[in-house]
Amino acid sequence: MKTTSSYLKPGLRGYEPYVPGEQPADLEGWIKLNTNESPVPPSPRVLEAIRAAAAESLRLYPSPTAQPAREAVARALEVPPDWVACGNGSDELIAMCFRAFVGPGDDVAFCEPTYPLFSPLCAIHENHPSVHHLGDAWALPPEYRRDPAPLKFLVNPNSPIGNWYDAAAVDEVVSASAGVVVIDEAYVDFAPESRLDAVRRHPNAMVLRTLSKSSALAGLRFGYAVAQPDLIAALELVKDSYNVGRLQIAAAEAALGDAGHRQRIVQEVVRERDWLTAQLSGIGFEVEPSYANFVFCRPPAAHPAAEVHAALRERKILVRLYDRPPIAGWLRITVGTHDQLEALLEAVGEVLA
Ligand code: PMP
Repeated sequence: MKTTSSYLKPGLRGYEPYVPGEQPADLEGWIKLNTNESPVPPSPRVLEAIRAAAAESLRLYPSPTAQPAREAVARALEVPPDWVACGNGSDELIAMCFRAFVGPGDDVAFCEPTYPLFSPLCAIHENHPSVHHLGDAWALPPEYRRDPAPLKFLVNPNSPIGNWYDAAAVDEVVSASAGVVVIDEAYVDFAPESRLDAVRRHPNAMVLRTLSKSSALAGLRFGYAVAQPDLIAALELVKDSYNVGRLQIAAAEAALGDAGHRQRIVQEVVRERDWLTAQLSGIGFEVEPSYANFVFCRPPAAHPAAEVHAALRERKILVRLYDRPPIAGWLRITVGTHDQLEALLEAVGEVLA
């Protein structure tokens, strides 16, 4: 994605966009462990709901607030519907936060390493990234807590590390912040607990969730925000009129109503994650404890991560490689099915041999 177009606004000359993980056009034969998708298919009830919604009514625009999905979120989380806003994936809700809560030149605070979408969004929206470096054991630095930025992001569990901040750590951030604190809980179903309680106690806290991971619906595009009604109303001021389509609404409603399917996915992923962590440690990898659906690891020194990444790719196994400090030389491996992970470990064994 390079352009020499002179029409591009000056602020975006030299801009480095967020680069999504590789998606082969033909999935046949590939083992995809690079974009934290679910290895298990979505609920049959979701597929049924999409088939039922693929009907003549598609000629009509959807509910502007995705009302049936919004109410399904509200039921699932036991909050009133006006505490919920829906989006085309949680990525769209992140972008909506930029539109709603910061003006040109304002600071947006976040820590690194984290989800690498915030810096590109700062460039697009003409904001200044106020970047803080995580401390030992990925601790949140005091300067980050005290940063007076009108918008702050906290990814929990954090990507690409997989570390998780407990209630006290999150509360310290929200209490010390003057602006909005967005707690991105894309991976929270794989962690001990959610911080929805922070939203109840703090008018400046917002939680973002997605159906992309634990509901196996990355291809659908549905995320939601939870916050006190006034903050949700501020977010909705800046949304596109019809940001969630009829098929997404129907699917989200079904997925949110199928907690059993979600729990089965989470149980399988957590079991395989812990197994993969032990296996990789056993062959000399340095592995971070993970509270998400991926494992962040570094191969033994004799085998640089780039070599392992390339060798796996030759065998049609995709994992994510990091090449910038402070995480240059690390890999992020999405937790796949047991068979996929066996194939991964066999391939890694060949590379290390
Ligand atoms: N937040 C984090 C931390 C993520 O890793 C992702 C997935 N790339 C997202 C948000 C976006 O998820 P969605 O598919 O809901 O847009």
